[in-house]
Amino acid sequence: GIRLEDELVRIRQLLEAAEIEFRLEGSPKLVNTSLMTENVLSMCLKEAVTNVVKHSGATLCQVLIEPSRTDLLIKVKDNGTGIEGSNLYDKGHGLQGMRERLEFVNGSMDVLQDKGTTLIIRVPNVFK
Ligand code: ATP
Ligand code: MG
Repeated sequence: GIRLEDELVRIRQLLEAAEIEFRLEGSPKLVNTSLMTENVLSMCLKEAVTNVVKHSGATLCQVLIEPSRTDLLIKVKDNGTGIEGSNLYDKGHGLQGMRERLEFVNGSMDVLQDKGTTLIIRVPNVFK
């Protein structure tokens, strides 16, 4: 399995090679997240950032990690073209795959279009 911290190292490299500025906010050291959920989050992050590189034309990609009492939110935000509505779940399998894997760990995904694209990934906390 892949820890979020390790995936962030790869993401940083991927964005650097694509000459897209990367900003990270929040700590990738997750405390209330199961290992299985963390693996799903890592896969989602990888797919989201690959999409930013392949499709968005963005100059900036931000990853925001926001824990709350009950959930963990991870936002992947770019300042690119936005996703054309008709492409959202039709053209490829990446977004659909993310949604299915997140459902498997009782999480969810929302897509916001506002001066680019923001994916909002939510997973529940586990209490140990
Ligand atoms: P796959 O992920 O299966 O290799 P894909 O990347 O084309 O193929 P999805 O990840 O499901 O498929 O994305 C669907 C479509 O949404 C893309 O083809 C692209 O047109 C659009 N898209 C996805 N992410 C972005 C983004 N960050 N900015 C602009 N367009 C996007
Ligand atoms: Mg994709």
